[in-house]
Amino acid sequence: MHVRTGDEVLVIAGKNKGQRGKIKRAMPRDNRVVVEGLNIIKRHMKARGPRSPGGIIEMEAPIHSSNVMLICPSCGHASRTGKRFLDELDHKDRPRKVRYCKACDAVIE
Ligand SMILES: [Zn+2]
Repeated sequence: MHVRTGDEVLVIAGKNKGQRGKIKRAMPRDNRVVVEGLNIIKRHMKARGPRSPGGIIEMEAPIHSSNVMLICPSCGHASRTGKRFLDELDHKDRPRKVRYCKACDAVIE
């Protein structure tokens, strides 16, 4: 997946189109991400004792990762990203794979 937890992203489709947010949770297996403060859904919760009183609570619902673009930390653009291998090795002695910004060519850690 092209985004991970902590990334700043721009939503490019759906009801939060054009809004920015930070990835709170990434679910690579489902290609989905939860963006902080976006795609809010309301859930009517039943009370389950004193620590969860119930009522209507708001929470973020996951959106598909293809509906967000990564905002490049170097150039600030919502950019397409690519993957590239570095000369240095990772902990498994394989070339380290990193993401890079296709707009400014900067490596994104
Ligand atoms: Zn960039």
